[in-house]
Amino acid sequence: MIKIHLKDDAYESDVRAMVQAFYPNTLLFVEKDETSLEKQRIKSDEPVEFTLDVDTEVSDKNELKRRLYDELSDRTGKTLPWGTLTGIRPTKIPMKLLNEGYSDSDIPEELKREYLVSPDKAALALNVAKKERSILSKVPADSYSLYVHIPFCSTRCAYCSFTSFPADKYEDMMHDYVDAVITELKAIAVKKRGKKPSTIYMGGGTPTALPCEELTRLCNVIKELFYDDALLEWTVEAGRPDSIDEEKLRALLNAGVTRISINPQTMNQATLDIIGRHHSVEDIYKAFKLARQVGFTNINADLIMGLPNEGISEVEHTLQCIKALEPESLTVHSLARKHNADMTLNAKDYNNYKSEDAEKLMEMAADAAESLDLKPYYLYRQKMMSGNQENIGYALSDKEGYYNILIMEEYHSIISAGAGAITKIVDTPGHLKTRIENVKDVREYIKRIDEMIERKVEI
Ligand code: SF4
Repeated sequence: MIKIHLKDDAYESDVRAMVQAFYPNTLLFVEKDETSLEKQRIKSDEPVEFTLDVDTEVSDKNELKRRLYDELSDRTGKTLPWGTLTGIRPTKIPMKLLNEGYSDSDIPEELKREYLVSPDKAALALNVAKKERSILSKVPADSYSLYVHIPFCSTRCAYCSFTSFPADKYEDMMHDYVDAVITELKAIAVKKRGKKPSTIYMGGGTPTALPCEELTRLCNVIKELFYDDALLEWTVEAGRPDSIDEEKLRALLNAGVTRISINPQTMNQATLDIIGRHHSVEDIYKAFKLARQVGFTNINADLIMGLPNEGISEVEHTLQCIKALEPESLTVHSLARKHNADMTLNAKDYNNYKSEDAEKLMEMAADAAESLDLKPYYLYRQKMMSGNQENIGYALSDKEGYYNILIMEEYHSIISAGAGAITKIVDTPGHLKTRIENVKDVREYIKRIDEMIERKVEI
């Protein structure tokens, strides 16, 4: 355990994030001058590695973070590729600087000077910010996007932290679930008075885990209520290759879906087995082939770097296979240890597996993307990421996923339907006004659908 001593609440979350970035697997305990001794005593019996006395008497937050960075870097001998940037949007600052008229050469300098970002990451952040700006310029700011959540998956992946329920156990409920989602969608359409969204995204979970007739019924309703010729994108996550068949793919294409995501994560069978994907590498090839035959011309593939027992040779193999599949976009994640994922809850089951630090692996993935002519177009970070790296989307020109950028940049409102779906109301680009969260439990969602609708309509 590391004890952090602060004077008061100011800067607590920044200090925590900075220390966690250097010590990802260590328990932190923050004590403040005003915390009673009683409260301090209740905390854990874990031995204290050291106490960090943080002087918060500084002129600004960045100065505090730089000082802390230097101290932690001296202690650990480590440097962090993203420097003092600990938020989820590393493009936020270059985006702001671009808007303020900074030049292409000034921005990486500023990222290095003020935030200690490495030259490679500074160049990447600027590059992505410029790409995001150009993509967003095609989306009317006064429009909105529609998100539909399907919280079922065939099995739960070891690293998963999403709301997802086992499809076989919930099969009996799926008809009623789709009924409830349709009720919510109809209410949204009435409230929007015929105004159509710029993008539609069906995520989860795995939407294609729905039986074909339910998936078809839902997609046809979405098409009828929200589709028009100006729609920029309709993405459906078909993440688990074993959840797809020809009939489902045809139903999606006929409804107007423009982009699907088939997610290998790795092309090594041994790793798929460790992470609980319960499908074969062959299933991934079959799913891609089928999607091409049916007529999909925009397929994304997700990969994760830093998976158990994955080093350079395993990732090299995966990337060779991906090159053969030729996806139009590739999303590369650095494994993030989420507190409610099986890998964290049952960490002892995974402790014997080795994995490579993600930095080298991310570089290899970037080279593979480049060889497919896929360019970086969106970027975000999470807490506890392997090697303090990032998640990054690469795509062919004009095959980028709009929704990915829209949600990250909070560019316009996202109206959402389904259990656990979060509606985000945005006033002006970058200014989130409010969030409205639906209940996560499927039974509760079905039972309280009128209340879910009412809460949205009120706002
Ligand atoms: S497919 Fe995605 S949502 Fe489903 S269990 Fe795996 S990580 Fe979670």
